[in-house]
Amino acid sequence: MTRQRCDISSLIFSDMGKALKKTTHFRNVKIKVVRRTIAGPAKVSYLSQGLPQPNYKQTHPSDPSITSQQAEPDDATPSCSESAYSKAKKRELHAWDAVKDDMLKVLFECSAPITTQCIVCLEHADYRCIECSTTAVFCEVCLKRTHRNSLHLPEKWNNVYYEPSSLGLFLYLPEGHGTHAVYTKDMKVIVSTGRLCTVTVNMCACEPETCTLLRYGLWPATADKPQTAFSIPLLELFVCLSHECQVSVEGFCNTLRWKNNLTLAEVNTLYRALVGESISHFRHHHFRQRSLVDICPQLDDGTICPACPKADGDMIVTLDANFGLVRKQSSGTSAVEPLHGTRMFVDEKAVEEYLLSHLDSSERHEDCSNFKAGNVLRSQKQAKKLDVTGVFGASCRHEMPLMFVNMSQGERLAYPLYVIDELLRKCEDKNIHLRVVYDIACVVASHLNKSGEGIPHNISLAVPAFHVYGHKLPCQIKYSTRRLEGFGLTDGEGMERLWSFLRRFARVTKEMTPSHRLDLLTDALLHYGRRKSTDLEMQLLQRLDKAEKIMILAQEDISSVIREAPVLVSEEDMEKWKKREMELAQQKQKPINTVCKWKRDYIIKLIQFYKFKSGTRGESYMECETEIEDSLLNMEKKHRIGRRWQESDSDFQATLKDVDRELRGQLICKARTESRERAVLLHLKKRYPDGQGIAIRLSKQVASSNKRMRQAIKEYNSIQWPPQMSIFPATIDFQEACDPSWHVVYFCFDDTIEEDNVSKSLKRRGIDALHMKTRAAEEKRMLYQEMRTVTEHLHQQHAFLCSAIKETDQPGAKAALIQRLQQLERKQHQATVMFHPHVPDIVPVDNLYLCQALPMSSIQTLVYNDDGDNDEDDTEDDNDS
Ligand SMILES: [Zn+2]
Ligand SMILES: [Zn+2]
Ligand SMILES: [Zn+2]
Ligand SMILES: [Zn+2]
Ligand SMILES: [Zn+2]
Repeated sequence: MTRQRCDISSLIFSDMGKALKKTTHFRNVKIKVVRRTIAGPAKVSYLSQGLPQPNYKQTHPSDPSITSQQAEPDDATPSCSESAYSKAKKRELHAWDAVKDDMLKVLFECSAPITTQCIVCLEHADYRCIECSTTAVFCEVCLKRTHRNSLHLPEKWNNVYYEPSSLGLFLYLPEGHGTHAVYTKDMKVIVSTGRLCTVTVNMCACEPETCTLLRYGLWPATADKPQTAFSIPLLELFVCLSHECQVSVEGFCNTLRWKNNLTLAEVNTLYRALVGESISHFRHHHFRQRSLVDICPQLDDGTICPACPKADGDMIVTLDANFGLVRKQSSGTSAVEPLHGTRMFVDEKAVEEYLLSHLDSSERHEDCSNFKAGNVLRSQKQAKKLDVTGVFGASCRHEMPLMFVNMSQGERLAYPLYVIDELLRKCEDKNIHLRVVYDIACVVASHLNKSGEGIPHNISLAVPAFHVYGHKLPCQIKYSTRRLEGFGLTDGEGMERLWSFLRRFARVTKEMTPSHRLDLLTDALLHYGRRKSTDLEMQLLQRLDKAEKIMILAQEDISSVIREAPVLVSEEDMEKWKKREMELAQQKQKPINTVCKWKRDYIIKLIQFYKFKSGTRGESYMECETEIEDSLLNMEKKHRIGRRWQESDSDFQATLKDVDRELRGQLICKARTESRERAVLLHLKKRYPDGQGIAIRLSKQVASSNKRMRQAIKEYNSIQWPPQMSIFPATIDFQEACDPSWHVVYFCFDDTIEEDNVSKSLKRRGIDALHMKTRAAEEKRMLYQEMRTVTEHLHQQHAFLCSAIKETDQPGAKAALIQRLQQLERKQHQATVMFHPHVPDIVPVDNLYLCQALPMSSIQTLVYNDDGDNDEDDTEDDNDS
């Protein structure tokens, strides 16, 4: 049974963001997970000799033999697949060994001409162009003819070796400038291989030099009178590298240095030309080109989640703060607003005003340990040097970034309140119910209630499934996403995954001007969103798969509770337990009746006293014994006890029982509180790389939490008498107590469950399983709806594109739009084919729109292959089999 429960939780906390491919075999509740590692960092090294876990297999995408081998059904035992795996690996290594020397020989052979026949005219050839082809050689005439306006760097054979050609690089204007003022200019150009060369460029007075450079495929280093220019493909590579691997400008320049043997002076030229405005404008230019926002304004600019409702529905958002994304005050100021405006980050002035009008936050929230942990993260000394102390953000349940705020004042309640307000404002009149998942949603809720505003009718608040362990039990019951209606299986950890991507930009953005920083972070978020929305169809199917598995596991859990119950129980009974639990959680906690102090002291002394008397002790204990005897006599006199209580007295027994419950209860609660705090701190710590101030402070917190916990456990374990109630363990183990769901306390102090014929722990299991089943069913319904929403969204985007195509009369813009339309139709086809088996009313789309919506003349310019979809659909369609 424990194994199954473990399976549920591992599924819940498993990373949805990765491209997972799962196969399920339900019979033995054994779940086989085959993980494709194309997206995201691989978690297991492929050469590891560790036995693969039977229900969790790792495959390498580039090795088909291994993939097919591991994807075999369950009957292959781990040891067998292991040896087959190493055999395949050895075969592969042998094959490389056999060819590596020959390959090197060929490489050196290529340093001299392999042929002397011009590839174009077949005459004698002295030139070669590695960038065109490694086997092609040219005569001088053909080289010039084929390399007009090219920035390739050909080489000439001087009968000894290939030397750089001395022909020079020229760029000529296209026709149409015959009568204009054309002039030439020598410029430093970084060509697409990263080499720095001098190019003679033809310019015309009829347009800005930057525009002419763009025609040549070059990006100017300055907007006015550029002297240096970069190959656009090279900069595109840089931008993509910086999104995926956070390459800095400096890192990029150094890469080019080692690749092309640049001198330090050349690297410096490159660096100076790239930092500053040139590269941020290129980034933005790249965004505008890709998003088409300028030629089709209604088109999604990358900030819309295709799966979230646009009107009439429930939208689940996750909020969270990150304290790593700071900015140093000393890193300069910006003269202009960010190029992206408020695309992702809200206007800072509006936030400041809001903060001023909401002076709420400094009140302490002792209830939930989380908020305290958040405060720990701030060190006043460090914060002084920072003008941005972190970022507060929101994403939807599909992890699309939605809204971000620069924080300047640590974790104030006003930030989540502001974001909630803004999100509500955006949903206004759209009949959208906002479901907010936030680590301290309970604190937000109690703030709203206390401030008299109340919780707006169109929002619900919940605490993420993991974080809820850091809260008091009533909080867990009232706010867990696992217990509240409408949250499906949303784990609420989406923002954490987003941070783990975004925080990689912290190092670069920490020392940027405010506007450059916001633009880069916005670009990064747009990139993250693009990743998410590109794989959205797959994500929805994976979630569906997971929901189905969880439903089966939950159902089995329910059956086992029914089986294990000492009396006849049904699912309806469990529903009643569930309702009763919620009722009890809503009630104010009743004060625990305490034993009066003197009785407590008296009983403790008495126990010591009888222990001494019964034991055979030496002389040294005599003194101690007399001391105890004295204080006992004192108490008896004071409280008029005529006859000393004997161990068999009912007074003694009853009081001991009360004292025992109280003392053990208090110590367990103390340990439990620390355990919760500790779990939350450790979880937080994972967000911040070691060595950072935050991580160090968190480690200290964990250490002192550990100390307090050990102290409580020590006191518990040294209690002089055995537990008087069966619910208490004789001793507590530190490791055991560290488990945030520590069962001992979980059940014995659970006032929200009444014990009758069925034990509290079994009831709790039943209630949890019931909730799980309900959430899984809910998730499935949500996913079906989301599939429809995605389909509608794509449909709408299609309509926007079609009307933009009709409206534009510029052939270039039209071509760009049609190109996008083609991509969109491919996606539409793919999505509808994937969704159809689950939602029959989603009918696969067969690219009919293009023909209907466009005039015939437009279609003629379009080479569209009907079979293209099947070829390019990858293997997505084989999911259902
Ligand atoms: Zn030739
Ligand atoms: Zn060439
Ligand atoms: Zn001109
Ligand atoms: Zn969404
Ligand atoms: Zn709470």
